[in-house]
Amino acid sequence: MQKNKILEEILNEVDKHPEIMSRREALKYLTVSPLAASVLASASIGAITASASTDVSGKIVIVGGGLSGMSTAARLNNSIKNADITVIEPDPLSVSYQPGQTLVASGIWNLSDIQYKRDDYLPKGIKLIKGSVTSFDPKNNKVTVDGSKDISYDQLVIATGIMLNYKAIKGLDGEITSATTNNADTKKTITKNGLHSIYFQDGAKATWQGIQELVEKAKNHTGSEKLQAIFTHPRGPLKCGGAPKKIMYLTHARLEEAGVRDKVEMTFYPNGGAMFGIKDYHTAIVKQFEERDFKWHYKHNLIAVDTATKTATFNKWKKVEKQFEDEMGDPIMKKVEVSEPVEVKYDFMHVTPPQKAPDVVAQSELGSQGPGWVTVNKKTLQSSFFPNVWSLGDVAGIPMGKTGGSVRKQYKIVVDNIISVMGGKKPTALYDGYTVCPIITSIGTVMLAEFNWASKKPGSGVNATSFPLDPTKERWIWWLLKVYALKPMTIHGMLAGRA
Ligand SMILES: Cc1cc2nc3c(=O)[nH]c(=O)nc-3n(C[C@H](O)[C@H](O)[C@H](O)COP(=O)(O)OP(=O)(O)OC[C@H]3O[C@@H](n4cnc5c(N)ncnc54)[C@H](O)[C@@H]3O)c2cc1C
Repeated sequence: MQKNKILEEILNEVDKHPEIMSRREALKYLTVSPLAASVLASASIGAITASASTDVSGKIVIVGGGLSGMSTAARLNNSIKNADITVIEPDPLSVSYQPGQTLVASGIWNLSDIQYKRDDYLPKGIKLIKGSVTSFDPKNNKVTVDGSKDISYDQLVIATGIMLNYKAIKGLDGEITSATTNNADTKKTITKNGLHSIYFQDGAKATWQGIQELVEKAKNHTGSEKLQAIFTHPRGPLKCGGAPKKIMYLTHARLEEAGVRDKVEMTFYPNGGAMFGIKDYHTAIVKQFEERDFKWHYKHNLIAVDTATKTATFNKWKKVEKQFEDEMGDPIMKKVEVSEPVEVKYDFMHVTPPQKAPDVVAQSELGSQGPGWVTVNKKTLQSSFFPNVWSLGDVAGIPMGKTGGSVRKQYKIVVDNIISVMGGKKPTALYDGYTVCPIITSIGTVMLAEFNWASKKPGSGVNATSFPLDPTKERWIWWLLKVYALKPMTIHGMLAGRA
């Protein structure tokens, strides 16, 4: 798709609603914002031809051909003359557009709108191994594919994404490491009987079915007790931490549209004690929740689901001061976590699974303790242990940043640094933690949460925004950006190594 086509689509939509915004105003926002300008520019990739000019040599192996892996491969290929690059990826639909799963789950897009074939996006000259890495041997610079084939490298990029760990919740099953494969176990429970999850493609499709069933149930509901729709957000880092809320807002929108919102109680159960890690966005979301009559209970972590009785069990936790004795027998106070189980009945539940690094990464010398993310310098994205190993995207062990918006910054850093190191120089390109999370708040509005590590510092406010607009407001212009521009930017821009 070409730049003008995207702009044209957005402006056509704007023209249909002059009461919201004029064409002139829309154009102003879309051209003045660095994010929007880069989105529109990068989506016109078809016309650009590569002119690789850097003369460094060495074999680069990329594990995982999803958004991070393929974008990195393409950019390296654009930059290095006679590049020797191999991508290892098992999923034939690995480059599908995951951010669109929320729109599939709410009936705005179909599955076919987000599915893209890995083989169509493999840059010319790059080798593809259709398999999974089953072990890493960084001391000897090699990986093993499907348990039998050794592949050696000079530079290794780990871009395996995240593991969706449904089986960590009692009563649910399956571990999923790609958007479209190995989900049969998870689908035994999730995708039916009011139990849904948008985190994998089939789950997103089934969620739309589930929302429609909830609407029908609400239409026929005559009881005095409301139907219960509950939405969970587990402990630990997530890819797209906004998604658990987006699906709640979109379910609300569909219930309202059908005139049955008053028949359903909607409750959010986050593990954490706030709606968002950055205060300004937290405050805005609380206000949005109040306006929609959403209920919420902080510090609730889903631990079990009984699908027969439609009961969810949460660990309700808090920190309390307890007295202990130190080694000299003197009393000391320490904060400890205490918890109690809380059972909640549901008619509809959206489960966001706990997430961790794929086992093969976590159990290797490259993974960290605990959830197993690849241990890297958070700015250069170079392994803390092996200077010829790099990681980015959801599997990288860095604070925040498990979104496609973060990948858009990270893959350029990784490429620049690999080229420096291959040329005998130090890695000097630095990531600042930037990410962007378009929080869909209704069909037609988005709050564009942009932030970086510095945004966390008290008093820094919303410091990373790229529009001359208050980012804590829900806006139609950002809905247009989300629905019309971000997908082509990702698929035609990032996957070509240019956005
Ligand atoms: C519901 C949902 C909504 C989202 N919304 C947004 C949004 O609005 N904005 C945004 O910016 N981001 C969003 N994201 C997040 C975004 O899609 C991810 O952050 C992004 O895809 C990360 O890219 P990645 O390459 O790290 O992982 P992926 O794109 O998941 O790719 C990882 C690849 O590695 C492969 N792999 C795994 N293990 C191995 C192995 N052992 N050997 C070889 N290959 C392996 C997998 O098959 C997979 O193809 C959303 C995600 C979801 C699920």
